[in-house]
Amino acid sequence: MLRKTVCVLLFMVLFNLPSFATLPKVAIVTTGGTIVMKTDPKTGGAVPAMSGDELEKSVPGIGKLADIVVIEVTNIDSSQMTPAIWSTLSRKVDEILAKPDIVGAVVTHGTDTMPEGAYFLNLTLKSNKPVVFTGAMNDASSHNPDGPENIYNAVVQVLSPNAKNWGVTVTLDSYINGARAVRKTQTTNVQTFESGEQGYLGYVYAGKVTRFNDRPRRIRLPLPADTTKSLPKVPFIYTYAGADGSFVRYAVDSGAQGLVVEGVGAGNVNADVYKAIQYALGKNIPVVISSRVYYGAVEPVYGDIGGGKTLENAGCILAGDLMGTKARLLLMLGIARYGNDTAELRKLFSN
Ligand code: ASP
Repeated sequence: MLRKTVCVLLFMVLFNLPSFATLPKVAIVTTGGTIVMKTDPKTGGAVPAMSGDELEKSVPGIGKLADIVVIEVTNIDSSQMTPAIWSTLSRKVDEILAKPDIVGAVVTHGTDTMPEGAYFLNLTLKSNKPVVFTGAMNDASSHNPDGPENIYNAVVQVLSPNAKNWGVTVTLDSYINGARAVRKTQTTNVQTFESGEQGYLGYVYAGKVTRFNDRPRRIRLPLPADTTKSLPKVPFIYTYAGADGSFVRYAVDSGAQGLVVEGVGAGNVNADVYKAIQYALGKNIPVVISSRVYYGAVEPVYGDIGGGKTLENAGCILAGDLMGTKARLLLMLGIARYGNDTAELRKLFSN
């Protein structure tokens, strides 16, 4: 028997056959997006068409990197994502990462709302194991799908000792972005995710990760324990020259528990919007001011009616350099934890 085993092992070594050494286990958690889409010949539009297992099988060489476990959570276009689905996803990812043999997770997600989804998990996950969001800009039936290479690179990143302590990342087209800073910048190009002036965290190519940046900013805000309760209602309201504040008043009158108002410049709104914000504050509804400008932060500079300084003095919370759609998620989770305690909520936005 012993002689037989030795002969088999010798044969495997001589002929370079795969050994029985176990590969690290990586979870791929799928949610939908272009990465699993194909063009429907009847309508000409891309629709979800592949299961999680089919997606894994479409990635050449992945089985040599890791022992992959696929978990399908949803199969939707990410324009249909909601904070409730991200809550389910976050709990599921934590449950998977709690298994001692799983080294990390790749989450496949549509790119349209990927920055928000990744940020939501960055806030809510309990685990410190690596989590990499990826997806595709070209669908699986296009002549150059980018999904398989993106998944391969995401698994490389999960396994890399050079890619630790970054929190949740968004990794596409080789570039690694932190969840807080990342923004989708191009509607159709494979190089769409950028971190602006905060810079990429790193680059993944040819099976290795190059580290550029060490300190992504991260706070944690656990999900409420009660899974049956929905998260607070927090609308996001864009403003523009001539806005009359009616959307702010409507949001207040229809049960908003908090508001994010996207101002101009360093965080300024006009007089009509300012009066509507005062209406919200008068009802003890926390109001966060973000800016539609890509780079820089909301700052208390201007003292005219609706200026950033005036808004701050009136009791608004300034979002700093956190983009409005992510400020909305932070406020939502913040209110779930602290109610309308503005002092506690303000601390969340100062990180
Ligand atoms: N509409 C798609 C989605 O977000 C776009 C993509 O995945 O690239 O699901």
